[in-house]
Amino acid sequence: MTSPFRIHIADLSQTGDSRDVVVTGPAEGWGVELSLVPAGAEASGRFTLTAVGNGVVVRGSVAVPVHNTCYRCLESWDDTVEVDISEMFGDDTLEGVDYAVDGDEIDLEPLLRDELTLAMPLQPSDECDELGGDDASDQNAPPQRGESPFAVLKDFLDGES
Ligand SMILES: [Zn+2]
Repeated sequence: MTSPFRIHIADLSQTGDSRDVVVTGPAEGWGVELSLVPAGAEASGRFTLTAVGNGVVVRGSVAVPVHNTCYRCLESWDDTVEVDISEMFGDDTLEGVDYAVDGDEIDLEPLLRDELTLAMPLQPSDECDELGGDDASDQNAPPQRGESPFAVLKDFLDGES
């Protein structure tokens, strides 16, 4: 079974060689607790691969549908998460290279999954908390305590006469 995220790069052997690719593959279950890619959904991206001598640079963007659940009221809704990708595939023992070339292929799946998951909200909110809660009304009312200064003054003047 061949993953649609695996890209053959044998033709990108000379520095400056470049090719555009369109990638679509299954992304079900990607995400975090309250923001997940629904069953059957796919991530789709468009990238330019460029050979840089000791590896391949992948640049482009990828998008995926997600199903969000509000962390406060558990209301849920569908959304789309899209991120820009700019990453080097090469010798991953080198500093700054996180993704390895595997023979004459690169596997975009871990990269795309990582980047999309990072872009998903940890605490999705449908802004229900901004519509006014139960205890939002009496914050501005001054405390009612004692008599007004005018009443005190009146008592004072009455006592003088
Ligand atoms: Zn909510």
